[in-house]
Amino acid sequence: MLSCRIHAKDDLRIEAVDEPPVAPGQVLIRLGAGGICGSDLHYYFEGRNGSFVIREPLVPGHEASGVVARVGSGVTRVEMGDKVAVSPSHACGRCDYCRDGREHLCRNMRFLGSASLYPHVQGMFCEYFVMDERQCYPVKGDVSLGELAFAEPLAVALHAVNRAGDLLGKSALVTGGGTIGCLIVIAARLAGATSVTVSDVLERPLEAARAVGAVRTIRADRDADALADAQYDVAFEASGSFAALKACVSAVKRGGTIVQVGTLPHEPLPFVVNEVMVKELDLKGAFRWGIEFDWAVEYISSRRVDVRPLLSGQFPLQEAVKAFQLAKDKSQSTKVQLIAA
Ligand SMILES: [Zn+2]
Ligand SMILES: [Zn+2]
Repeated sequence: MLSCRIHAKDDLRIEAVDEPPVAPGQVLIRLGAGGICGSDLHYYFEGRNGSFVIREPLVPGHEASGVVARVGSGVTRVEMGDKVAVSPSHACGRCDYCRDGREHLCRNMRFLGSASLYPHVQGMFCEYFVMDERQCYPVKGDVSLGELAFAEPLAVALHAVNRAGDLLGKSALVTGGGTIGCLIVIAARLAGATSVTVSDVLERPLEAARAVGAVRTIRADRDADALADAQYDVAFEASGSFAALKACVSAVKRGGTIVQVGTLPHEPLPFVVNEVMVKELDLKGAFRWGIEFDWAVEYISSRRVDVRPLLSGQFPLQEAVKAFQLAKDKSQSTKVQLIAA
């Protein structure tokens, strides 16, 4: 079977590997669709994602859906042929954070497709992969495998909105109109925000944001003044840009909340701590997700959330390099996915 492996910066290879064995309690899954995420792009184009550096070949991919191809003994949660969303988060379930219901902060986390540990925890950009049955979320109905692969990024957005606190009656700003920014627009509207504004430095992400319900869009590069007035209750920084974080600090009202979702560049950053102090802002981080993955699968499989406007293209695994290049070009794409040919 084929596997997509990043050996180093700019060195992505499609390689033939053996099909993995299936142990009791495990499930063999044939890839349905796998979304290319910003972190996958960082691994390919930079050889690192923030402080996580590639030290051996890494199979990227943590946003995947698939079809159950084989089940190990004792498996009860899924059956052969089931359509499943796959949770890439393997928390230990035993540490103090897990027991406190914050398993994304687990002390012993093994997150798929990540170089945070060595040996790396391999991801799902391959024809077949093995999962513990508890990672698999079977769904019925006509929802496509492409839509199901949005469960992970939607969970990120739901978690960010959860971190912001009550949004009923609030105005929100989202900096960055990529997949996560657009999904935050959807999640903030679900949570009762009266209006959501999105800023970006490109036109296409703003079009995508309008398509999913942003009432106002701002070209941050041309109209910086539009972000200078403190007029939003809550801001979500989803672009990974320090300039955007500074814009959030200016654009939220006194006493407002900023949720940092994007990964900023791995370098020392100056920070306007005094503005956080003087405006009495709540600055919060949102990292991955916990129970929100379950909610995301529900929202997508019932189409309460329709992610289809965000899917820009699908490519077979063999064309992974082409897919990564398109995914990187935000003037051409929102979400790009790999599929098993
Ligand atoms: Zn991701
Ligand atoms: Zn744990």
